[in-house]
Amino acid sequence: ASILVLGGGGREHAIVHALTKCRESRSDDKEPESISDICRKTGETEDEVVDKIYVTPGNPGIAKEKGVECLNLDVKQHQSVVEFCRDRSVDLVVVGPEAPLADGITDTLTHAGILVFGPSKAAAMLEADKAFSKAFMLRHGIPTAESAVFTDPDSAKSFIQQSTWKGWVIKACGLAAGKGVIVTSDKVEAVAAVDELRSVHGKAASSLLVEQRLYGSEISALCFTDGRSIAMMPPSQDHKTRYSGNTGPNTGGMGAVCPYPVDAATSALCKDILQAAVDGMALDGVPFKGVLYAGLMLCVDKLAVLEFNCRFGDPETEAILPLLDTNIYLTMKACARGRLCEAPLVRFLQDQVSCAVVVVTQDYPASATKGLLISGLEAASENHNSELRVKVYHNSTAISPVAGSDSNCLVTAGGRVVTVVVTASSTSVARQEACRRAALVKFEGAEWRDDIGCMAEEQLSL
Ligand code: ATP
Repeated sequence: ASILVLGGGGREHAIVHALTKCRESRSDDKEPESISDICRKTGETEDEVVDKIYVTPGNPGIAKEKGVECLNLDVKQHQSVVEFCRDRSVDLVVVGPEAPLADGITDTLTHAGILVFGPSKAAAMLEADKAFSKAFMLRHGIPTAESAVFTDPDSAKSFIQQSTWKGWVIKACGLAAGKGVIVTSDKVEAVAAVDELRSVHGKAASSLLVEQRLYGSEISALCFTDGRSIAMMPPSQDHKTRYSGNTGPNTGGMGAVCPYPVDAATSALCKDILQAAVDGMALDGVPFKGVLYAGLMLCVDKLAVLEFNCRFGDPETEAILPLLDTNIYLTMKACARGRLCEAPLVRFLQDQVSCAVVVVTQDYPASATKGLLISGLEAASENHNSELRVKVYHNSTAISPVAGSDSNCLVTAGGRVVTVVVTASSTSVARQEACRRAALVKFEGAEWRDDIGCMAEEQLSL
């Protein structure tokens, strides 16, 4: 089978890596086998084995994966993606980021008869429009924080002045690349956040959500879904703030741990919430297919949804997918066809923990120095311990000429540069090894958080 993956970050690297394993795991040999040899061994049909993965735009790390070709398609021109898929007989398109989903790429491809793993434009509203998402949750009895939506900033400010909450979270209703949320603990900050979001985000902040601040620990619950049934992934935890001890500004995510330990009742609640969302979307006439992600706050007395995302999270995916023990291609294809029941049961490795540590530029998230020479990736991923699995995913890297060097070199191309992931039999080993290896990644001013997974570890010791 041939697959086209849209995107070029750490999340897509983890997806592509999982897809390459749909072939690799079938072979003990180092040399790639022919598809017919693989099929003879496994009893699978040729179209169940992934032999070619195209990625647009991809990145230098993705380009090094076996059987992968990175290329530059203009994804905003949906028709050019359709033509590429027809030309190369692509069997499945996997959409990584939210923007093409909100832009309706799934609808165009589906209309052209091409299978897509990802929700339609209407279903992607669950992430793309926070006012829509809030109304949806209220309509379907999904637990969430109290809130109100405003198009007029003065009304938002007077609402804040009159409310008696302990804290306020001000959110731009439109997509703002993870930067459209300001968490505040007093009214002065909250009022200032209204003006700040409106001046920075323009159209995405033309509607604002003023939400009650909740206190507790955050977890991410993700599932595969075909629009009716769901297959849960283990709960994970992102670490959003820039500095250790959950301090500093919010970022795209500084690291993740999976599984995050939760009790059986919480785990069942996560599943109920995701199933209720999938059922709600189907009832509303917009079935949701793909990955549904609920960002949840685990409070003392309740579990509440902070947001839904319509795709894999980054960096959660880098921590979750190394634990997947079944063929992701068959799961994705079955979801796209609306027949998850036809895929083999989705299974994750038991008694294993992944810790993903993101190495960032010193100036991130305020800015992101590009062009810094990167080294040490081989040392960071070298592994002689059969008890561990190690992988370095590329988030924002590029190959570029560097002054003083004859050949092109690997350089930084954004704030979150690479993610070092270690999978081990305990949270503490996965954590320590991931941090030790993050320290081996070298570029000027490289930084990372040394406490990724600490809360999970503390939770286990309670
Ligand atoms: P992203 O795209 O990065 O996942 P987003 O911009 O869509 O994020 P949210 O996930 O809604 O926005 O919020 C970002 C972060 O703000 C959350 O992960 C959480 O840390 C914090 N947050 C959001 N809502 C609340 C709330 N009601 N109470 C406390 N913290 C909140």
